[in-house]
Amino acid sequence: MIACRLLLSAFCSENRGTGVPPVRCQAKATGETPVPPLRHRPIFMVSGCRWRHERLLSNFCLLPTAFCLLPTLEGGGNLTGMSELYDVLVVGAGPTGLACGIEAQRAGLKLLIVEKGCLANSLFHYPPNMTFFTTRELLEIGDLPFVSVNIKPTRAEALEYYRRVAAYYHLPIHYEERVTRVGQENGVFTVGAELRGGQRCQYHSHNVVLATGYYDLPNLMNVPGEDLLKVSHYYQEPHQFFGRRVAVVGGGNSAAIAALDLYRHEAEVTLVVRERELSRHIKYWIRPDLENRIKEGSIRAMFGSIVTEITNDRISVRNSDGETLGVQNDFVFALTGYHPDFDFLRGAGVRTDPITCRPECSTESRETNVPGLYLAGVIIAGMDTNEIFIENGRFHGKQIVDDIRRKRK
Ligand SMILES: Cc1cc2nc3c(=O)[nH]c(=O)nc-3n(C[C@H](O)[C@H](O)[C@H](O)COP(=O)(O)OP(=O)(O)OC[C@H]3O[C@@H](n4cnc5c(N)ncnc54)[C@H](O)[C@@H]3O)c2cc1C
Repeated sequence: MIACRLLLSAFCSENRGTGVPPVRCQAKATGETPVPPLRHRPIFMVSGCRWRHERLLSNFCLLPTAFCLLPTLEGGGNLTGMSELYDVLVVGAGPTGLACGIEAQRAGLKLLIVEKGCLANSLFHYPPNMTFFTTRELLEIGDLPFVSVNIKPTRAEALEYYRRVAAYYHLPIHYEERVTRVGQENGVFTVGAELRGGQRCQYHSHNVVLATGYYDLPNLMNVPGEDLLKVSHYYQEPHQFFGRRVAVVGGGNSAAIAALDLYRHEAEVTLVVRERELSRHIKYWIRPDLENRIKEGSIRAMFGSIVTEITNDRISVRNSDGETLGVQNDFVFALTGYHPDFDFLRGAGVRTDPITCRPECSTESRETNVPGLYLAGVIIAGMDTNEIFIENGRFHGKQIVDDIRRKRK
């Protein structure tokens, strides 16, 4: 404890005079300290000041609490029965979940956000060099201006922006806790979460908002060989594929961008598209580039075709005439989209359409058929994930919180 105090006072004095407003400590009910050792902790430059992420301070301030809980955690037992009762518990700290949290906080509601990874976890896992399609002001939440070098921000700029938003609003977020269950007991929601080490904890809340996005679950091709190491549903960087034969499966934006990027880093690219043409959703500034590369033969495109099998050195592709062609291949990017976790939704009692998987959810309040259980962001769209983006999902929080406030009156 003495060592803790010394560390804490050393840390606080280091931050004195930086001009950064004091951060509020958030109780970490689980006692988990997912923050890396001090020497590995990130330092951000903001307007010339040197400061550390809010959570670092939070964890320092909470060390005594964490120590109290450690014996239970080390025993591997369940950490249940936490007595605190929230007004709103948001699952997911993506842009939508953060926007919901801000609205709840502004309304004076007792809030907790539970996130299975890091802040804006999906964006963190997007290709490192990506640029958003959307202009920066359409990605703004909480009325905070998004400043970026160009009109369309990069992933790195977006991550910095959402970090600053979360810090500015002192959003209470528990990281690395995966929500596994949402149930109800006596009119109060019970939310079960699993921590990184496998321990479990439980929260109670009057209302729950699911803002869990779709990025964890790729739409699988369900073909033999899809589980080979050379197959990925997430494109990252091109360098590794220089001089290699790469198949990109899909006809949307992600596939188009990956195919062009790989081609420009001298991979031999084959684009396999199920439809007879590229998706109408491909952005107008990307489409002509890809069409021209296909026309000139720099990228081989197989339209009206599906991959039927993947082996270590080739893929089998069936075209619309029913012919199967073998294509020599080193890597496959199956960029066939993603979908929300419908089983999780149904497990929470939300009814979904048998064909579109669209959840039953009011367009005005975003409340589901389960009273007090709300949906925000792309999860609302069922399989039609091209319908909701950050730019429109960011407004769901206001609708939800307005509804909660109305019911409390
Ligand atoms: C490559 C790419 C580029 C894109 N470009 C744009 C663009 O330019 N403009 C635009 O508006 N949209 C864009 N999108 C879409 C946009 O990123 C998503 O629509 C948006 O992230 C949805 O926000 P969200 O908060 O609903 O979900 P997410 O951002 O996916 O956030 C969901 C969060 O919930 C967490 N979570 C999931 N399950 C659990 C659980 N069980 N327990 C706890 N936490 C959980 C996740 O870790 C994640 O942090 C792009 C998408 C991709 C893939």
